Amino acid sequence: MAALMIILLLIVLFIALILYRTLRFLPKESVKPDSGEVTFDAEKSIEALRKLIQCRTISYYDNSLEDDSEFLKLESFLSELYPNVIKTCERINLHKRAILLRWKGKSSDKPSVMMAHYDVVPVEEDNWQKAPFEGIIEEGVLWGRGTLDTKVTFGGVLGAADTLIASGFTPEQDIYLAFSGGEEVSGESAIKIVEYFDKNNIKPEIVVDEGGAVVKDVFPGVKEKCGLIGIAEKGMMNVSFSIESGGGHASAPKPHTPIGILSKACCDMENNPFPMHITKPVREMFDTLGRHSSFIYRMIFANIDIFKFVLDMLCKKIGGELNALLRTTVAFTQAKGSKAPNVIPPTAVFTANLRLNPMDTVESAEKRIKDTIKNENVNVTVMDGVNPSPISETGCDAWNKVASAVAGTWEGCIVSPYLMVQCSDSRHYGRISNHVYRFSAMELTSEERASIHGNNERIKTENIGKAVEFYIRLLRQC
Ligand SMILES: [Zn+2]
Repeated sequence: MAALMIILLLIVLFIALILYRTLRFLPKESVKPDSGEVTFDAEKSIEALRKLIQCRTISYYDNSLEDDSEFLKLESFLSELYPNVIKTCERINLHKRAILLRWKGKSSDKPSVMMAHYDVVPVEEDNWQKAPFEGIIEEGVLWGRGTLDTKVTFGGVLGAADTLIASGFTPEQDIYLAFSGGEEVSGESAIKIVEYFDKNNIKPEIVVDEGGAVVKDVFPGVKEKCGLIGIAEKGMMNVSFSIESGGGHASAPKPHTPIGILSKACCDMENNPFPMHITKPVREMFDTLGRHSSFIYRMIFANIDIFKFVLDMLCKKIGGELNALLRTTVAFTQAKGSKAPNVIPPTAVFTANLRLNPMDTVESAEKRIKDTIKNENVNVTVMDGVNPSPISETGCDAWNKVASAVAGTWEGCIVSPYLMVQCSDSRHYGRISNHVYRFSAMELTSEERASIHGNNERIKTENIGKAVEFYIRLLRQC
């Protein structure tokens, strides 16, 4: 009887502890929104973006398909669209697909770098409802490839700098505007720019590039707008699983064909996901947004150390975005067999695309694949790979500047760190700065996010001015 009482008492205490922690898990004091007045010509920024969209700056992995004249056209527009920037800033030429501008500040020891890319991915023009390179505006929406990704931030930072220079503003510190015309094909320009900084001992205090955005309904149980700033990005690798066989006719097969063996390897990978890790960006995201969540979710996030296994189980079952934040993911994307339905393939290949959690590396992931499939007849080959980026600091001056500009531009939005699951040019900056922040200055719906790299990419014109406002708020603090 006494033992039962003790067990009951322990259960009650356990529940009380969980509830106590949940009730105390309240929103933290957030960063003070930048509240200075901002004035600029919104119409002008919309017109400028229209002109940028009219340049077909399409990048191709086969560079010979690119139209240099379109890239030069865009460059030639800059002195007309942003005359003060072009007059005031020094251009540093490093690569034909790079525009690096130095805006001299009162000092040079803590410079900032504002990044963007002005190239775009190709379009399937027939599938668009409106022409992708004409800059058509209808019902408050500007249509065009590159509107969201990411000529809006390219134009946003240039428009902001132009406005500030016109008003007589000089930044406290040097500001570099670092633009790439080859980001979409992992071009060299960002690498060249980072090499230049490194060689000249320029250590950026703040780096801002595309990444998170202002979004709604992405975090469980949170209704408010969230401004997500990426403080790290996952790595990426492509891996082939191949098997050689004697080939032969399909009429008398062995018990397991090459495709059967590869399928087993594929199932082994899918049934044994990489372990879950709550890394710093995700832990901080849970600790910020979780506090604004509904009761049940708040209970989970307030007691994440206890409920970790529930989260792990759920994520393994559901997959998707939350799962991607927590572990290295594996997606099988390609398969190749023989040339005819009645021939056993002499070589069969499966390909998988992995996104590496900050705890993993290309090397550790490769080892885990081999340990998981445990089959020496399957050749596991890393085709290419990039390690995850280092994780940037939060709660420091640099973070506060970016966060306050976000909070000042989008009123009432909760600013939170997060882990970016895509790759961007900013990963190259990890070796020269631990203040690299990934934020696309826009409020985006899930539908808009889906149009990036897809058909009918378009932007609400009110978003164009918001990007300029964000950069004005940020640049004034640099
Ligand atoms: Zn982009």
